[in-house]
Amino acid sequence: MDRPIEGFPARYWHVLDDGRVQCDVCPRYCRLHDGQRGLCFVRARQGGAVVLTTYGRSSGFCIDPIEKKPLNHFLPGTPVLSFGTAGCNLTCKFCQNWDISKAREFDRLQDFASPEAIAEAAVARGCRSVAFTYNDPVIFLEYAVDVAQACRERGIRTVAVSAGYIAPEPRVEFFRHMDAANIDLKGFTDGFYKSLCTGRLAAVLETLEYLKRETAVWFEITTLLIPGANDSPQEIEAESRWVMDRLGPDVPLHFTAFHPDWKMMDTPPTPPATLRMARRIAIEAGVRHVYTGNIHDPAGQTTYCHGCGAAMIGRDGYDITAWRVSADGGCLACGTRCPGVFDAGPGRWGRRRRPVTLGADEATPPRA
Ligand code: SF4
Repeated sequence: MDRPIEGFPARYWHVLDDGRVQCDVCPRYCRLHDGQRGLCFVRARQGGAVVLTTYGRSSGFCIDPIEKKPLNHFLPGTPVLSFGTAGCNLTCKFCQNWDISKAREFDRLQDFASPEAIAEAAVARGCRSVAFTYNDPVIFLEYAVDVAQACRERGIRTVAVSAGYIAPEPRVEFFRHMDAANIDLKGFTDGFYKSLCTGRLAAVLETLEYLKRETAVWFEITTLLIPGANDSPQEIEAESRWVMDRLGPDVPLHFTAFHPDWKMMDTPPTPPATLRMARRIAIEAGVRHVYTGNIHDPAGQTTYCHGCGAAMIGRDGYDITAWRVSADGGCLACGTRCPGVFDAGPGRWGRRRRPVTLGADEATPPRA
């Protein structure tokens, strides 16, 4: 197999007066001496420039249901070829993918996978889209953009699963290449972001408003509710009202269950009642499509028509159990159009999760 390249030329950085080099990809703006890595660990200074050290390297490929991202209004029922790399630009103590996001041993990453190989693999395996997920694609922007371009050339859509922690200039390039996104809104207080993620809430809200105002990217929002940290009715109501005021009623909200992980092993799992309470609060605030996740709750995972209340897409976990949607995304009962991206019928992938190894013929070397 081809050896991965050491460093791919990175975009979005500049030289400071004191000789350091500043990475401008995310609001951390890491200032680097030669040989230093940024907080994400994967962008590093080599000589006078910043390089991406994970270009072409994956922590593994898997075909997932699109609902697992989670996206409930984007080609429901279809398979998505999913992968991540290593590292992250947030430091969430509750990270549910910490083995990937905190990876420092790059040898655990698979051999090289070119953008073309990934796009070809998606076509060959009947996937409608490719998802950048498991860790945040913002930190491997150059690779994600090249994969997205290769996918578009082959009619494959792309999905970014991201915390939205990205600076304004790269944000434009990054999302120009994406068809859909799920943005993790981790909490709705700056204190939560500061103490548990060492980030800032405002930067994420800016990304959400940018997506709504400036792009055609279909996006949904996920909030992982953590007992005692971000699950108060007041905070959930504040988040829901903000979504209504700034994004409107048609951006779906997912409230998902926390499981003890990483540095929060002593925090209990989220009770299902908390998720149902959050869903109720958001619906009362006016958000039209609100879902529970990571629990068994068919009623909380069904898509209801906001015109007549009929169940349009029934779900049991990642299985689609009912489909009452017209070819143009309308409710079969009343004709009201459901916001999102829909095919004439549902995909048939179901709840399967299938690990994929890219074949030797697909693992071709990088162009740069
Ligand atoms: S992308 Fe990485 S190196 Fe760049 S500013 Fe963010 S954490 Fe620092």
